This record gives sequence, structure tokens and C-alpha cells, in this order.
Amino acid sequence: MSDFLAGVAAAATVAAEHVDAVDRDARFPQEGIDALKDGRALSALADGVPFAEVAEACRVLGRACSATGMVFAMHQIEVACLLSTDEWPWAKGYLAELSREQRLIGSVTSEIGTGGDMGRSISSVEPQPDGTCTLVKQAPTVSYGEYADDFLTTTRRAPDADGGDQVAVMHLRDQTTMQKNGTWDPLGMRGTCSPGFVVSATFAPEQVHPTPYVTLGAETMVPVSHLLWSHLWVGIAVEAFERAKKSVKAAGPNANSVKAQRLSELHNQLSGTRAQLAEAMERWQREYAEPGRPALQTMSATLRHNVLKTSVSRSVASICQGALEITGIAGFRNDSPLAIGRLLRDSLSASLMVSNDRLHETNASLLMVVKEG
Ligand SMILES: Cc1cc2nc3c(=O)[nH]c(=O)nc-3n(C[C@H](O)[C@H](O)[C@H](O)COP(=O)(O)OP(=O)(O)OC[C@H]3O[C@@H](n4cnc5c(N)ncnc54)[C@H](O)[C@@H]3O)c2cc1C
Repeated sequence: MSDFLAGVAAAATVAAEHVDAVDRDARFPQEGIDALKDGRALSALADGVPFAEVAEACRVLGRACSATGMVFAMHQIEVACLLSTDEWPWAKGYLAELSREQRLIGSVTSEIGTGGDMGRSISSVEPQPDGTCTLVKQAPTVSYGEYADDFLTTTRRAPDADGGDQVAVMHLRDQTTMQKNGTWDPLGMRGTCSPGFVVSATFAPEQVHPTPYVTLGAETMVPVSHLLWSHLWVGIAVEAFERAKKSVKAAGPNANSVKAQRLSELHNQLSGTRAQLAEAMERWQREYAEPGRPALQTMSATLRHNVLKTSVSRSVASICQGALEITGIAGFRNDSPLAIGRLLRDSLSASLMVSNDRLHETNASLLMVVKEG
């Protein structure tokens, strides 16, 4: 095991010790995140850790504490966006600081008025007479918004730009005002601490990502999100499956054969999901390494990345529900070592984090024109 993954495994042990309190109190998973910072895991991608290891870290953390896993995954998505081009000197300086200080980046993509339509913004970059720029965005959900050091925000390029002419802006906490809207008491992923905020920032023009969002999203932000989220969701499913397996094993040789058979069916589903994820990982990494990344600008790539997200999110929730049926009342109880409740609730967030319906709507259109579906 690499030093990086050994450090992540140690942080996952810490996160697992606090997972019930994090879930019960809907509080930030501070202990797990501090342990990740101690192991310098927040700068993993910037420090040259392979993407596949960062994805595996999401799976390991997702199994221990979904909220710690989600905070880690979302942060790494933002770092991947900063690393996506060599043509951004400002990001190089910032990443050195991130590595030194283990700074945590939050994500501001959703917007009130566009919902989860990542392809459109209402807010915009507004150039100011003193040479700085500002933005104001009504964000319905900013995970760890009160705990992030800095933010990557999608917004229109300029006040007169079309809704789809977006850029990503990297702004620092001391350049940002976060005005919280309401509370956070959700069904699952409670420790992500994701209420709404009015996000206002003043920043230098060089803090705008040089790659237009239409390209950044297709090549990096969307596939990396779907790959890292899928790894952590699979981690949730593995934990639910292992609890179901324990319940079958505990029954010994007299175990109900229906339960054992259902476990085998669950294993099929989990294996299929893992295989789908492994294939998507291999393909994206290969296509990302190609000069100019032409394969990632195609409709069939969009289709594939959306299929990964919609199908893994569905099957993870279904695996958790299947595990609940196998564990029975022991899984239904929150005070049992076989409890499935938190895992099931957390898994239900997967189809909402960018609505599956929106992705299916896009894919339904793409299927009519893409030759190889
Ligand atoms: C745990 C969690 C953490 C999150 N953290 C963040 C974060 O840190 N930063 C961030 O930016 N976002 C984050 N999000 C994402 C964000 O909050 C939502 O995905 C986004 O705001 C969409 O909200 P919505 O589901 O209400 O709206 P919509 O996207 O409008 O979807 C609601 C429902 O409306 C229907 N619908 C609406 N429009 C369409 C359409 N065109 N086609 C098909 N169906 C449609 C669908 O049935 C859909 O399920 C997070 C989400 C979750 C669950």
C-alpha cells in the first residue's frame, strides 16, 4: 500500500469513530478531515499522487464516513480543475499554498434559478473600475461552506454573456463573503453541512480559470465528479454489503437459504457496479492523457459519463436497500452493529447530486444522435 493510501486508511479509522455523532448532529466531520490534513491528503493530486489512488481513497473514506468521503471528493474535484491546464500561472502559486497549508476548497456550481443545470449560470463576473472583478451568486447548497478555506464558483463570463458562456473562478476565503440562508437538517449526507448561501467575492482577473467551462466541465469537472462520487458511493454499498454478509454468517450453517441467496444476488449487483466504474476510470484516464483530449469533447463521452453517474447512484441505493432486507430488524435498528439506516439515507443523496432526471433528459436527446450508444 502506498504511503498516501496508508494515511487515508488511518484517517478513515478516525472518521469511522465519529461517524455516528457526525450523522446525528449533522456536524462537519472535523476529526476525519484533520486526519486527512495531517497525512497531507488534501494536496494529493497536486503532489503527484495518481488519480486512481485518490479515487480509491474516496471509496475507503465513503465506507467509513460518507460525509468525510464527500468533503474529500468534492475538494479533489476542484483541485483536478486547477490542475487541468498548464496555462494558468495563478493556479500554480495557489496550489503551492494549498499544499503547504492543506487548504480545503468548496464548490459553488448550483444556483437558485437554474437548479442543478450545471450548463447555465445567472450570476456573472463583473469587472470593476479599479481592475478587480466581483461576483454574487445565490447558491442553494454549498457543502462545508462554513469550513472551506476557498471556493471554486461557476458563473457567466461577463454581465452580457449568454447563460451557457460560463467560467470557473477560484476565490479565497478572505476575498469572499458567505451569507448563510437557513439551516441544514437533511435526510442523509448530514455531515456535509450544505445549507444555502449568498456568495459574494472580489478577486483579480487572473483568478478566472483560462479554460471555458464548456471545455473544463466536459474534460475534467463532470467526469472527475462522477468518478470520485461513484467511488465513494461504492464505498457506502460495500459497507452495507459487508453488514449483510455478517448477518448471514452469524446465522451459521442453519442460515436461511433465502437470505444467503439474496446476498449472492447483492454481490452480483455490487460486482457489476464495480466493473462499470473500473471501465469508466480506465477510459477517462486514457482519454484525458491524449494531447488535446479530443475524445472527451464528444457527445458519446458526455453520454458515458452521465450513464456512470445515473446508474451507480441508482444501484448503490438499491444495494443498501437489499442489505436492509437481508439484515432485517437488526439492520433497521440504529443501535445495532448491523445498522443500515445511515448508509441507506446517505446513498439516497446520490441521485439528487445533479438530478438523475436532468442527466437522463440530456442522454435521451444524445441517444438520438450518437452512433455508438
Ligand atoms: C448532499 C448534497 C451536497 C451538495 N453539495 C453541493 C455543493 O457543495 N455545491 C453545489 O453547487 N451543489 C451541491 N449540491 C447539488 C445541489 O444542491 C442540487 O443538485 C441542485 O441545487 C439541484 O437542486 P434540486 O434538486 O432542487 O433542483 P433540480 O435540479 O431542479 O431538480 C429537482 C427535480 O426537478 C426535476 N427537474 C427539474 N428540471 C428538470 C429538467 N430540466 N429535466 C428533468 N428533470 C428536471 C427532476 O425531477 C429533479 O429531480 C449538493 C447536493 C447534495 C444532495
